[in-house]
Amino acid sequence: MRLQDYDHGQRFVATLLATQRITPAGSVEVRELRLELAAPDFRATAGQSVGVIVPGPHALGHAHHFRLYSLAADCEPDASGIAHVTLCVRRCNYIDEYSGEEYRGVASNYLCDLQPGDRITINGPFGLPFEIPADPATDLLLISMGTGIAPFRAFVAGLYRRHPDWQGKVRLFHGAMSGLELLYMNDERDDFGEYYDRATFQAFKALSPRPHWADPIAMDYAIEERAAEVREMLAGESCRVYVAGKADILETLDRVFAGLAGSPDAWQERKERLRAERRWFELVY
Ligand SMILES: Cc1cc2nc3c(=O)[nH]c(=O)nc-3n(C[C@H](O)[C@H](O)[C@H](O)COP(=O)(O)OP(=O)(O)OC[C@H]3O[C@@H](n4cnc5c(N)ncnc54)[C@H](O)[C@@H]3O)c2cc1C
Repeated sequence: MRLQDYDHGQRFVATLLATQRITPAGSVEVRELRLELAAPDFRATAGQSVGVIVPGPHALGHAHHFRLYSLAADCEPDASGIAHVTLCVRRCNYIDEYSGEEYRGVASNYLCDLQPGDRITINGPFGLPFEIPADPATDLLLISMGTGIAPFRAFVAGLYRRHPDWQGKVRLFHGAMSGLELLYMNDERDDFGEYYDRATFQAFKALSPRPHWADPIAMDYAIEERAAEVREMLAGESCRVYVAGKADILETLDRVFAGLAGSPDAWQERKERLRAERRWFELVY
């Protein structure tokens, strides 16, 4: 869906409670933002996003600039009707290929520059939740690149909160260009640490062997190293697959899963079946 087609009808004011850089200095800047929302009806869960409306004026006379950010924690109002929205935002700057000038991404810089107490306008939630299956024996394959880890931080927390005795395998593949960019799973901060002693949970880092190259080959290696288990999971009758992050991850996965399935056709057939049976979830951008 195109950004201009989103419904901007109901808007909410959110107040920034805290902002914390979650990548070490010297790497790309990614911040976790915790916002408070006085909206008793607002509920959103892993896999969904909120819209952030940056007030204008902006380039080309646009009145506002609208971008989506995935929830990094489930959002439900507490007894007093206050909901907390947690976002994980990468500061985006880019070089114009014609002029060579550097431009600041509008919404991401706006969010990363906020100070506690600042108020912003958001809307949503948008997108379909990453549904937790009813059967706790279901195997779950979670695959993320970069900021795509945000929904899985929310998903894994929600899964073990609701089902402390989850029996199916939960395998999280988390990719980044370097260990410094491995969000929520780096030397300074590991939000998944509390799940490592659970028999069902395992997380794998997919780091590029060529950290300065802009290609997502790391995921191929990480999955191929565990090919037997992933192949067996994908062949299962109930396994669910959840994918999040920049859209180029889909191409990488098609390639690596085609290898596991035996051919691109065999993989496309399996993927169609996963989709048809609502066992394939995507949050890509
Ligand atoms: C459903 C959905 C969920 C999203 N969830 C998140 C999230 O949880 N965290 C997050 O940081 N972003 C997320 N994004 C991306 C976000 O909406 C913005 O596109 C991004 O922050 C850039 O917006 P901007 O206004 O700062 O940049 P603009 O002024 O629009 O300029 C964008 C420039 O940065 C590049 N760029 C855009 N996104 C990224 C990225 N993630 N990494 C590297 N370069 C990029 C673009 O190619 C372009 O060159 C999500 C997008 C969608 C559609």
